[in-house]
Amino acid sequence: MQTEVLIVGAGPTGLVLALWLTRLGVRVRIIDRNAGPGETSRAFAVQARTLELYDQIGLAEAAVRRGRRLSAVNVHERTKAVARIPLGDFGRGLSPFPYILILLQDKHEKLLIEPLAEAGVEVERNTELIGFEDDGAHVCARLKRSDGEDEFCDAAFLCGCDGVHSAIRELVNTDYPGGTYERVFYVADVTATGLMVDGEVHYAMAGPDLCRVFPLMGKDRVRLIGRVPDSAKASGFPATYDDVADQVVEATGLKVSMVEWFSTYRVHHRVAAKFRKGRAFLLGDACHTHSPAGSQGLNTGVGDAVNLAWKLSAVLREHANPVLLDTYETERMEVARRVIATTDLAFGLQVNPAGAMRFARLGLAKLMPMLMRLEGDRLLFFRTVSQLMLNYRKS
Ligand SMILES: Cc1cc2nc3c(=O)[nH]c(=O)nc-3n(C[C@H](O)[C@H](O)[C@H](O)COP(=O)(O)OP(=O)(O)OC[C@H]3O[C@@H](n4cnc5c(N)ncnc54)[C@H](O)[C@@H]3O)c2cc1C
Repeated sequence: MQTEVLIVGAGPTGLVLALWLTRLGVRVRIIDRNAGPGETSRAFAVQARTLELYDQIGLAEAAVRRGRRLSAVNVHERTKAVARIPLGDFGRGLSPFPYILILLQDKHEKLLIEPLAEAGVEVERNTELIGFEDDGAHVCARLKRSDGEDEFCDAAFLCGCDGVHSAIRELVNTDYPGGTYERVFYVADVTATGLMVDGEVHYAMAGPDLCRVFPLMGKDRVRLIGRVPDSAKASGFPATYDDVADQVVEATGLKVSMVEWFSTYRVHHRVAAKFRKGRAFLLGDACHTHSPAGSQGLNTGVGDAVNLAWKLSAVLREHANPVLLDTYETERMEVARRVIATTDLAFGLQVNPAGAMRFARLGLAKLMPMLMRLEGDRLLFFRTVSQLMLNYRKS
């Protein structure tokens, strides 16, 4: 066989899987159809569970050094401050990383690519998986290279870390049940000035709409997330920043001088019906996708990768009974479902425009600073958001 594990997709999930397997002495190939790593900020936060895992492979210190701790979340109504929820080390006593770390996805992927390259594994870019066969003893994958040539790659196992539109999920004919929220959201990385550009997170409400302001690295850089107004959708053209600019000003009072990145997206909440078929596995967004509320997406993919990596290594290296591999699906599907239930709840609470929900949002925001002073509530909140609550004791 050319390799023991063929990893398709060099997003955070595939990179962590490649890194972990390499550390365990397993031979891997990792391919990606894109010419280079992602250059947009996307995933914003790294949770304590991920940092604890990174600590096991000597990566946590570099992650913490390159990122920034989230100090507080503020809530405003029509630019008037309603509440400040201090976070800081709110998980003290529970983890050596008792905070939420801000580390944007492009920087995060770099953090993973560097040690992988040092270990002698380069991501093979411009290489796309277009098919595969599994004969029960190995898989033979068909790859399309940038020169237009097809190549066949034999491997003991195939790992689909190929994102939400996963080709491997399609090829193994697995359903992706769940739903898609009707509303369209925007994300904009901008340079701006104003009271909400202060290194903290701001939830700015204006009537039924909510604009979230997240600090980015660099002077006066923030990310804005909100709902695209119906007027923009009615025009029939793809929304641009101009379509949301008035809404941003009304909610945040920010003066935006430059828009670096603007994109619109729909929010899905789905878990694949299967995470494994024979020698092919699905990981990360390829088998679960949810709202960005609570910053769980990337972190859940990392958890998948670590869970599967040691099992593949045990089977390939230590002759463990291959039945061990079945526990990947059982354990991680349960985790994905729990994460989706929690993020759906948080997302609904954050964005539902109904009057009663707006009232509940405001009430909860006012209550949160007090709740965070109660040790039990503070730790429960940290355990949930950090993913420390997840365990496999019943497995
Ligand atoms: C605006 C935004 C904000 C977000 N915020 C957060 C956050 O704060 N916290 C958080 O945890 N998550 C967040 N997420 C989610 C996070 O970005 C994803 O969960 C994460 O990128 C999933 O990683 P992945 O490696 O599973 O898939 P991806 O990052 O999608 O990577 C898949 C890779 O597979 C490659 N590929 C696809 N098909 C093929 C093929 N056939 N052959 C070869 N290569 C292929 C693609 O080129 C891609 O590089 C956010 C997402 C968005 C869009």
